[in-house]
Amino acid sequence: MAIDIPSIYGSLVFNDNVMRERLPVEVYTSLKQAVEDGTPLTLDIANEVAKAMKEWALENGATHYTHWFQPMTGITAEKHDSFLDINKQGNVIMKFNGKALIKGEPDASSFPSGGLRATFEARGYTAWDASSYAFIKDGSLCIPTAFCSYGGEILDKKTPLLRSMDALNKQSLRIVKLFGNDTVKKISATVGAEQEYFLIDKKISESRLDIIHCGRTLFGAKPPKGQEMEDHYFGAIKHRVSEFMKDLDKELWKLGVPSKTKHNEAAPAQHELAPVFTTVNIATDQNQLTMELMKSLAHKHGMVCLLHEKPFAAVNGSGKHNNWSISTDTGKNLLEPGDNPYENAQFLLFLTAVIKAVDEYQDLLRLSAASAGNDHRLGGNEAPPAIVSIFLGDELTEILEAVEKHAKYKGKKKSDMKIGVSVLPSFPKDTTDRNRTSPMAFTGNKFEFRMLGSSFSIACTNYIMNTIVAEALKEFADALEGAEDFNTALTDLIAKAYKKHKRIIYNGNSYSQEWVEEARKRGLSNYISTVDALPHFTDEKNVKLLESHGILSKNEIVSRTEILLDSYSKTVNIEALTMLEMAKKQILPSVLSYERRLVEMALNKKRLDEAIDRSVEVDLINKLSALTAKLYDAIDKLECDTLNCNKGNNALEIAKFYHNVVCVEMKNLREAADSLEGLVGKKHWPFPTYADLLYSIN
Ligand code: ADP
Ligand code: MG
Repeated sequence: MAIDIPSIYGSLVFNDNVMRERLPVEVYTSLKQAVEDGTPLTLDIANEVAKAMKEWALENGATHYTHWFQPMTGITAEKHDSFLDINKQGNVIMKFNGKALIKGEPDASSFPSGGLRATFEARGYTAWDASSYAFIKDGSLCIPTAFCSYGGEILDKKTPLLRSMDALNKQSLRIVKLFGNDTVKKISATVGAEQEYFLIDKKISESRLDIIHCGRTLFGAKPPKGQEMEDHYFGAIKHRVSEFMKDLDKELWKLGVPSKTKHNEAAPAQHELAPVFTTVNIATDQNQLTMELMKSLAHKHGMVCLLHEKPFAAVNGSGKHNNWSISTDTGKNLLEPGDNPYENAQFLLFLTAVIKAVDEYQDLLRLSAASAGNDHRLGGNEAPPAIVSIFLGDELTEILEAVEKHAKYKGKKKSDMKIGVSVLPSFPKDTTDRNRTSPMAFTGNKFEFRMLGSSFSIACTNYIMNTIVAEALKEFADALEGAEDFNTALTDLIAKAYKKHKRIIYNGNSYSQEWVEEARKRGLSNYISTVDALPHFTDEKNVKLLESHGILSKNEIVSRTEILLDSYSKTVNIEALTMLEMAKKQILPSVLSYERRLVEMALNKKRLDEAIDRSVEVDLINKLSALTAKLYDAIDKLECDTLNCNKGNNALEIAKFYHNVVCVEMKNLREAADSLEGLVGKKHWPFPTYADLLYSIN
């Protein structure tokens, strides 16, 4: 059946068209104005909006409404209230007013607050982010909101993002004004988040406790066929997967999520979805919805969607490529080279601001991608290393080198040599070189940050990105606003900033060992794991940055660090306990019973007077016994350290214990079990193998 995309697109969204149609003109205008200025709505306006929203929602099959928010757990939260109310006459009415639209008061005591909210003051409140449209999901009107404690401390991922958008807007406007542009009213970051995921058969995965509890495999020998043939990437999509993808697209389109590209990824059972980019707060909400729908629709299709960063050892993990740029409300991408020297000068200034920002705040970007799951990926051979660097491509690098030396850039084509503003050159728009190994690649008109893990909310990376670039632009604007000769000051500024920060630029292979050494020489940071990266959140320079732009207070940063460390420890703890359960109750008994069978076979032979000393059975028994002893030992150690030991006195010490001790013991246990898997008959192995899982969908 043909799908009429334009007619279903956004059909479940209370978007601009619906508002224009259903709201009285003055209400619509006031709402728009409030969104633009970031000012609160008056109760009168909110009441009118709520009325129209309720009618629209009821017509579209909703029975409930919920404030939809993004607490620090990393997933979205919702508490549903039905529109149902009883009036004085005892009749059922459908009620929803401005107060309920603007503000909700969920009991917040069970959301992580990192000590910000004393338990006796458990209340929190949610406030509508009117710049992100309400939508209907599963019979509920969802109102995108920010989440704060009663004292005003923020408890979610959305609020700092919204604040960082203001900071970026403010500083970028100062810059474009310097270039004589007074028509631009608003500048926003735009983001397109490419989402990778795995699909496996639900039935087959149901007997794997690790997939059920941890969303990844904790055991599993390498299958005979991995991704070495490179036959999955962009390969033909299997029928079941294709049906799922069609369904997913359709549901996303209804929710106004512009899903655009879908394909198989490098690993078997791995896929990717990319949307058309949009304003960063909306892109954040849309990515959360995408992940949620992927999971629920996979179930409907008899599959499980794994968003974990490393569901399978030895095959590629999943990331989320965060494509980031800055655009004006007049539609100009400020990271796109222009048509004339003026525009190119402005472009080079914004580009240099990003270079400076990424160099000065490598640590913040790195820690925005830190988690127990992503630790398995960063630094592996398929993902960027833990070192943050920028890929610019040869041509842009040469241009900036020329600016630094106050030399003329000799473009590839003679016609590109338009020298207008100063020595800043004109150059072709098309930078065709590509680099797939860089953590932060400039791809012609945007930066692609590739460190993020597939299960992450994109909020943190983007509020960091917005804020650090806002800070660089602020310093630039401060220096240029008072300049006597703008052109000379501009060229000097770019030359100096580039010289100071060019160590962050690396156009080579970021996966190589050579780069690790080179990066160390350049003084770039290399925080290998989450426990190395996270403590830098509270470094003085980072607190100063986030406080000065009004993004987070020191208290809020400290509490966020605690929450993230705590979440790291909890994740590893659950994984360790799941491993123990599988090893003790499934692997060990299976191996022992297999061994017993072999012993019986050997004894039978002996009874028949056959020589058994050098028989296959005895040989196998010896190998199995040695490995079983190793397994048993590893179980013992892991159990002791996970269950009994004092792990430390604060969140960092505890997380370090999990990283330095528990993770190492988990690795040992896995090694013993995976070796045993290779020796034990398939029939006797207690759960599906890697080959069963990775090739479970036909
Ligand atoms: P790739 O080769 O990395 O797959 P694509 O051209 O498919 O690159 O784009 C990847 C993502 O980048 C898409 O989600 C796309 O919408 C997004 N994107 C394109 N332009 C911009 C921009 N100006 N700002 C933010 N994201 C963008
Ligand atoms: Mg990409």
